[in-house]
Amino acid sequence: LKDFSISNEPILAYRKGSQERAALKEALKTTAATCTEVPIVIGGKEYKTDKVVYQVMPHDHAHKLAAFYYADKKLLELAIKTAVETQTKWDRVPLADRLAIWERAADLMAGKYRQELNAATMLGQAKTVIQAEIDAAAELIDFIRIHAYFLKECVKYEPISENLKVTKNSLRYRGIDGFIAAVSPFNFTAIGGNLAYTPALMGNAVLWKPSDTALLSNWRIFNIMREAGVPDGVVNFVPADGPVFGDTITASPHLSGINFTGSVPTFQRLWKQVGDNLPKYINFPRLIGECGGKNFHFVHESADIETVVTSTIRSAFEYSGQKCSACSRMYVPESLWPQIKEGLLREIKQLKIGDVQDMATFTSAVIDDKAFKRITGYIEHAKKSSNLEILAGGNYSDSKGYFIDPTIVQTKDPKDRIMTEEIFGPVITIYVYKNSDLMEAMKLVHTTTQFALTGAVFGQDESFINCALEEFKMAAGNFYINDKSTGSVVGQQPFGGGRMSGTNDKAGGPHYILRWTSPQSIKETF
Ligand code: GLU
Repeated sequence: LKDFSISNEPILAYRKGSQERAALKEALKTTAATCTEVPIVIGGKEYKTDKVVYQVMPHDHAHKLAAFYYADKKLLELAIKTAVETQTKWDRVPLADRLAIWERAADLMAGKYRQELNAATMLGQAKTVIQAEIDAAAELIDFIRIHAYFLKECVKYEPISENLKVTKNSLRYRGIDGFIAAVSPFNFTAIGGNLAYTPALMGNAVLWKPSDTALLSNWRIFNIMREAGVPDGVVNFVPADGPVFGDTITASPHLSGINFTGSVPTFQRLWKQVGDNLPKYINFPRLIGECGGKNFHFVHESADIETVVTSTIRSAFEYSGQKCSACSRMYVPESLWPQIKEGLLREIKQLKIGDVQDMATFTSAVIDDKAFKRITGYIEHAKKSSNLEILAGGNYSDSKGYFIDPTIVQTKDPKDRIMTEEIFGPVITIYVYKNSDLMEAMKLVHTTTQFALTGAVFGQDESFINCALEEFKMAAGNFYINDKSTGSVVGQQPFGGGRMSGTNDKAGGPHYILRWTSPQSIKETF
């Protein structure tokens, strides 16, 4: 097998006058100028239904970016039949050939289509240029390349064969017969690519339900993978109404797995439906889910103040707090609070909120009307509650785009729902603890929410760090010491959390691909 490189895709800087900046501007212009029509694709054939849905630009919601169709039950059943038939053929394609397709795809994403992916992500998902580049370019390419690398590494393993003259043992990595349903979110273009194509790499066939609000970027991934050589029917592109999709896939005896990123209630609903249908299934479906968080920054009195301030501003407000990993609660010791508060209020004033096409924009609108209502509901709660004080931000308007100012709230009650529920928006709440109450404050972190996705501690004192490593062992799947809670890198910090944050299968880690194979042990006797 050809060697893959394990290094991460470098991030481009988009400096004034650079070639990439000119190419991106061009891609933005073309993408914005048309409302792209996106069909349903099953087994390589295109379909349309009566149910037309639009993807709009969140920062300018009168502007339609894509028109697409919801697959109905009949089409979803056709997609299942197609995937099941394709799977057995696809699983026979030699691994070296599959890996070559993935390598070609990564090269197309890194070169020819980089700016198209970025433009669709910026305009459709309201990402700034840098946020798009780390997602739709770097992370997507890393998922494609590095999972292929991990697969190549894992097949090197040879089981012990004690007497080679008599027996030889081997392990072959098969796909799972049936189909995998990939349900992907809006907030990372890369996650869509990973949820649909990592199972496919392992020899599975997939029904991919992209998020309505990430439709165009996900459609571009689908086309790149086709151009790279993924055969028809291996991944079927089926935007659909959530419950119709869930009901149809879980009713099929051929469901072999669900690869999901989204909300806790949706994942729980799918899990329950799988449970109800268990006697029907040919395989036990593999259920893999990443479901959000209530991520924390915990500051010790020995922390470096500027590190805390810049890390917190970035984690809480980059991409308007819509990363699953974004910090939305912080614990600060009384002794450092005046300086940290002063730093946060100084920095928040500098943030430029606006149009994603302006290269100086720090963050833009939130994704849609539903998100706007949910997030502003928390802001209104903060305005009304006597335990809560808004220190910065608190304003919002959805007249042109879904804009919410980055907002800092201080709470007297560490158990207020603003400190325990997922908000998924640009709102951070801070609880100031007495230095002498350090241990009690640390306990609050993991006893007040149901989530355990990401968390960060800040401090120079080694005994505090050791204590935090113990106390927060189950509080986060991705744990940072003196760095922000966002920004995990494929192959460097495999991503995922436990408790209600998900099944913690660690996307971007060496074990993730193993969830998508059903290996066969072979003992040959001579
Ligand atoms: N891997 C991303 C990060 O650490 C978050 C992924 C997500 O939002 O699901 O920032």
